[in-house]
Amino acid sequence: MTITPLDRHIAAVTGTTRAERDAIEAYQLSRLRGTVTRAKRSGRFYRRHFTDVDPAAIDSLEKLSLLPFTLPSDIAAAPYDFLCVSPRDVSRIVTVSTSGTTGRPKRVFFSPEDQERTVDFFHHGMSTFTSPEDTVMIGMPGKTPGSVGDLLAQGLSRLGCRVVPYGPIMDFDDAIATLRREGVTVLVGIPCQALSLARRMMQRGIRHTMHSVLLSADYIPAPAASIVHEAWGAGLYPHFGMTETGYGGAVACRAHAGMHIREADLLFEIIDPLSQTPLKDGETGELVVTTLTRKAMPLIRYRTGDLARITSQTCPCGSMVRRLERVFGRIHSGVSLRSGGHVSPHGLDDALWADPSVLSWSAAVEHTPEGESLCVTVEAEPFDEVRLLDAVKRAVVIPQDSPPPRIVVTHGRADFLTTGTLKRTIAVR
Ligand SMILES: [Zn+2]
Repeated sequence: MTITPLDRHIAAVTGTTRAERDAIEAYQLSRLRGTVTRAKRSGRFYRRHFTDVDPAAIDSLEKLSLLPFTLPSDIAAAPYDFLCVSPRDVSRIVTVSTSGTTGRPKRVFFSPEDQERTVDFFHHGMSTFTSPEDTVMIGMPGKTPGSVGDLLAQGLSRLGCRVVPYGPIMDFDDAIATLRREGVTVLVGIPCQALSLARRMMQRGIRHTMHSVLLSADYIPAPAASIVHEAWGAGLYPHFGMTETGYGGAVACRAHAGMHIREADLLFEIIDPLSQTPLKDGETGELVVTTLTRKAMPLIRYRTGDLARITSQTCPCGSMVRRLERVFGRIHSGVSLRSGGHVSPHGLDDALWADPSVLSWSAAVEHTPEGESLCVTVEAEPFDEVRLLDAVKRAVVIPQDSPPPRIVVTHGRADFLTTGTLKRTIAVR
């Protein structure tokens, strides 16, 4: 088993030859104190938010839990209050829409150094399964300088492999032609788009072999590994990242046992989303992120809204770099039904992609004078309404003694395939 290349990368940053917990944690503590000091001194938000915080009192990583949280709504309310550098030192501003009812978008700022660190992480992270002989197709937005696809392309170029910048996959005939024409051996994609491509190729009997597929930017459905293996003979490498983590966050190794965290730049915690207290290793809760090296916009105890589980046990690959064992999707992406039931995009993802006929899906909860309906549009070949209805029913959590909700399954192409939305939601109308 090859150890994750992130091990040597993180060890080099922390001043050792092999990543060891003591060295990583000493480095993280020193960076944490530096980040808190600088954020409080240079940014308006943390100056207010940390009025009672003394950085010198943070003498262990456990003391992190004494600091107040930063919420997505804090960023949306006053993004410029987070800036800790002069605006002329900002090289990229990303606007991220929020799921809240205010509709006010978040703005996230990066300096050239911040972007360089992400390129460096992508370079080492992608070397887990990519070598100079490979041709990598990037199915992520990459037209704008500093976008996720652009930074990934820069990291891959350092690895010496050939890069095919493509962008979100929405025209499947074109994507298939590109895979074959360019001789693509590694695909980086958005989960539902890559899976939809895989299923279409399988159904049409189009053969194309790739050795690795990296999925990121949204929930990775449970059947994803078997789908990419069946379609392309590829191994699945999940990646977790969000704009707020500087796109890169954690990536799987060859042990396929979770994603090694970008520990030189990020500190991950898991908290109970209700009591807001830290949870132990192996417990599932909300992922909270602290940046350790971010120049333009440091974030301290930022609540991601993602449900996840972390382990500090040594990986089967031999590395002690902590792992995100699994990311279970967004806590608030589900919809509570009036009948008492609950439905989430990740529940539907797991249930529907397990059916080999499914090519794409989208869902909405609709309210009419007749009552409430869960309307699921499924593109499937063949379209077997009864079987797909059963799959949707398995995804809906219904409390005992509650009446089952009305579910309507119709045939059609999912709207995310035409809009290119990265994170899918269930519409309520
Ligand atoms: Zn590993």
